[in-house]
Amino acid sequence: MTEEIFREDHYARRCDAVVTAADERGVQLDRTVFYPTGGGQPGDIGALVLGDGRRLAIADTRKGAVPGEILHIAEAGQALPRPGERVSAEIEWERRYRLMRMHTCLHLLCAVVPAGVTGGQVGDGKGRLDFDTPNVLDKDMIGARLNELIHGNHAVGVRWISDEELAAKPELVRTMSVKPPMGLGRVRLLEIEGVDLQPCGGTHVLRTGEIGGVAVTKVESKGKRNRRVSLAFVE
Ligand SMILES: [Zn+2]
Repeated sequence: MTEEIFREDHYARRCDAVVTAADERGVQLDRTVFYPTGGGQPGDIGALVLGDGRRLAIADTRKGAVPGEILHIAEAGQALPRPGERVSAEIEWERRYRLMRMHTCLHLLCAVVPAGVTGGQVGDGKGRLDFDTPNVLDKDMIGARLNELIHGNHAVGVRWISDEELAAKPELVRTMSVKPPMGLGRVRLLEIEGVDLQPCGGTHVLRTGEIGGVAVTKVESKGKRNRRVSLAFVE
């Protein structure tokens, strides 16, 4: 079981850790700041800096087969560290911060478009959501409203809710394809004050102003009841 520092501190860029396992699947640590692919957000890349100063480049981070396992996947051709070795785990922060900004922005998009979400992807500098609606979506209106919410600089925070409370409030779950992890007794909610509240385990910025300007690059019809809205940073 790896201590998941990225769940509590979305801004943690590095941590000291001890290698608990290392094999062809990946390197496991006792604690980490590396976010594993999930909830539409890609896994972190970066490096594990070993005791002798060698940098083991990490190309991806994924969840293992066993719950709680986090695999740091090294770029091919590098000698792996041994269990018990101390490392400094360092994510590529500029990329992660762009992912956090876009991820938070997709929550705003959820608030702007009143429909169920059937899919989505957080990308580096861009992102998209698929909505279950037969309605025509107004690209300019969505863009204007998103930037208004960004400039509103709303606070973003985490709140916990019990499984029972969530079961009693099904309207909180916006994603139609992915159900939040129930059965642990409580579920993490991401709250953008006065704007959006829904279960989410990803990493986010603390205020919507950090997102910066965005543009709606495309609104596509992907079927009778499927509208795909794509966003990109304006910079
Ligand atoms: Zn989220």
